[in-house]
Amino acid sequence: MSQTPPDPNFEALAQRAASLRAQIHEHNHRYFVLGSPTISDAEYDALFDELDAIEKTYPALITPDSPTQRVGSDLDERLPKITHPNPTLSLSKAYTEDDIRAWRTRIDKVLDTSARLGYVVEPKFDGLTVVLTYTDGILTLGATRGDGYTGDDVTANVRTIRTVPTRIPVHPDAPRPPSPLVVRGEVVMLKEDFKAFQQKMQTEGETRFINARNTASGALKQLDPRVTASRPLTLYAFEIVDAPDDSTPHSQWQSLSFLRQMGFLVSEDIQRFDDLEAVIAHIRAFEARRHSLPFEIDGLVIKIDDFATYNALGVVGKNPRGAVAYKFPPEVVTTRLTGVSISVGRTGVLIPNAELEPVFVSGATIKQATLNNFDDVARKDVRVGDRVMIKRAGEVIPFVIGPLPDARTGTEQPITPPTHCPFCQSPVLHEEGEVAYYCGNPECPERIARSIEYFVGKGQMDIEGLGEKGVRQLLEAGLIRDEADVFSLKPESLENLEGYAKLKIQNLMNSIEAAKKRPLDRVLVALGIPNVGTTVAKVLIKHFPSLELLMNATADQLQTIGGIGPSIAATVVDWFALPRSRSVITKLAAAGVQMVSTETQITRSEALAGMTFVLTGTLPTLTRDETGALIEANGGKVSGSVSKKTSYVVAGESPGSKRDKAEQLGVPILDEDGLKRLIADRGGES
Ligand SMILES: [Zn+2]
Repeated sequence: MSQTPPDPNFEALAQRAASLRAQIHEHNHRYFVLGSPTISDAEYDALFDELDAIEKTYPALITPDSPTQRVGSDLDERLPKITHPNPTLSLSKAYTEDDIRAWRTRIDKVLDTSARLGYVVEPKFDGLTVVLTYTDGILTLGATRGDGYTGDDVTANVRTIRTVPTRIPVHPDAPRPPSPLVVRGEVVMLKEDFKAFQQKMQTEGETRFINARNTASGALKQLDPRVTASRPLTLYAFEIVDAPDDSTPHSQWQSLSFLRQMGFLVSEDIQRFDDLEAVIAHIRAFEARRHSLPFEIDGLVIKIDDFATYNALGVVGKNPRGAVAYKFPPEVVTTRLTGVSISVGRTGVLIPNAELEPVFVSGATIKQATLNNFDDVARKDVRVGDRVMIKRAGEVIPFVIGPLPDARTGTEQPITPPTHCPFCQSPVLHEEGEVAYYCGNPECPERIARSIEYFVGKGQMDIEGLGEKGVRQLLEAGLIRDEADVFSLKPESLENLEGYAKLKIQNLMNSIEAAKKRPLDRVLVALGIPNVGTTVAKVLIKHFPSLELLMNATADQLQTIGGIGPSIAATVVDWFALPRSRSVITKLAAAGVQMVSTETQITRSEALAGMTFVLTGTLPTLTRDETGALIEANGGKVSGSVSKKTSYVVAGESPGSKRDKAEQLGVPILDEDGLKRLIADRGGES
């Protein structure tokens, strides 16, 4: 060994290694034995990897009891032990696509070839590994993985799992299995089953089941198999561990078919590839859809398909070289909840938000997560100062899964709903038996800000260029006070605002102008009347085709409409009775916002009776549908093609060949104003 110069940090690193060892031992015990971890898997991995790195740099620091020197253990001292015929080794990990490519490079060095290899890619189930032994086709032993060499005998519990065949083959026509046949599989609780189980336990006042993996693990290690039987567990078989020579297939891919043939449940999400880049593309696609899988996974396992090659690759350290586990970036982390802030929605509902010690999860640092509502806070017993588990998955807003009660110090403070709205100080309302606490003040500044944000948002008035921030800025500058004020914004008043250049102002003015033409059902949705979404709005408009008719409808009239029950009728009537609502509607009408339904417009006159119109090009204010509706409402007909019988062609900007045709045939051409004048001259309405 060559003499390396003494590292000034050696002492510090030695201390750090000792501390890491102690922490990992403690977490191992909590995780595997108590089934109640206080850190997430990712944090555990980070501790482990740090220790591993120190020991690799200074092998002198490795102690015989170091957690790096053995695979993790889930042994439970209360259960009888068995010895596995073939140890379950842990897999080396990959965190990036390059890690996977590097794995292949290492293989090539060992095999001294760059031969084409087949790969089997399997979901890395987030469950508990079990080893099942069948003697003459009868399940004789079920054991946990334990430390890989020795496991807990949980035969009676495993037998209660419906997807574990107690006799193989399940179908009598299938070939006889070899004896003994030892199969490895993963016990999981499917997402759907876990949700139902969690709900059932919660109604019984039991709230400690916060994740499917620990619940599955706890269920399998019950001393009483009846308890295991009462929990919905599923086993996915994925490997043949032991069988007499040459009695089973010679590749992983064929083994899976064989296991299916025997009657085991094998995941349909396993695939085989001949090319590593295809494997990587598959992993990328799989990661994107991991949330739609029926079970929780924390990555994918890539195995060399051919057993002869796999075995030839051997083992390095405690990891077989022929397989690698690709781990997804963590989505669950733990951090400290330092406080609770309240946000108020447009309907007045108070939403508690967890303020967090910043934590990195799924590629972003988060400082806040939602606590949903105060019922949830009480049910989960979350307290200020708690270590909490946070999940950030896909497009979902980060949320608090629950606290880690074992990590409490006794200084944690319970969270109670506020008695007054933090924005307007009016008393907080709460109906007995309802989940929501809310601010009942329709003039609450925060509720108004949220209402305007919603009003201008996508799917409502859809005013492009005016987002959440823009609305707040206009409110602060005193340029708007309600939804309708958006329509009276003047370019010159925006000029002094920060971030408003000429072009931006012009674009905003254009989108405000365009928003005036939104159909009435969209306007109705945008007003944010409780219970009035797209469907209800359409139903209401069909029966009351103008806002004026609707706002004067009584609850009794509304209830005669199919699909409108007493509670919707009441909220609609109550909302229109508010002075603020009336004032907003009056202002919107004055600003020229659509107040009448164009689709169900009633015939207003016979001014255009007997006339046929053809439309072409874009009119300055009316859409094609609106123009058609206007003509029909006044008794006219709209046709698709120009002929001698056409009374008028209505042409706007960039008209098509229809305009030329009209000129050839001598059909008169009208612009938008011309059409409106024609209707007015003949006594109609436009
Ligand atoms: Zn308020």
